[in-house]
Amino acid sequence: MAKTAAKSKAAATPAKGGRIKGSKTDNSKAVKIKKVSRAVTRLVEPGSQVDCMHCDERVKFQAKMRHQQVICNVYEKNKWLRVEHFHADCYKLAKQPFGKPID
Ligand SMILES: [Zn+2]
Repeated sequence: MAKTAAKSKAAATPAKGGRIKGSKTDNSKAVKIKKVSRAVTRLVEPGSQVDCMHCDERVKFQAKMRHQQVICNVYEKNKWLRVEHFHADCYKLAKQPFGKPID
C-alpha cells in the first residue's frame, strides 16, 4: 500500500520552523518589526524642536544647509522607550550608539 507509506512518511517528518510564536499576544498581524533600537538618517525639517542628545543643541532647520539628523527609536527589552535625535555628525561622534543609521 503505497498510499499509507507515503502518509506515514509525511507524518514522521517534523515541520521545520512550524512552531507558532507569539500566539498568546496576537497583535502581530502587521509586518514583523524588530523591537530593537534603530537609527535612521533624515533631513532636518522646518520647525524642528528637538535637541541633539550628544551636544544638547537644537537640531535646527536651515533651508540652505539641508542639515541631516539621525533619529533613533530606542527600545529596551522589546519595549519602545523614546525617540532620540542627533545631528548627523554628532551621531558619528557619539559612535553610533544605536547602530548604523538607515537612510
Ligand atoms: Zn549635536
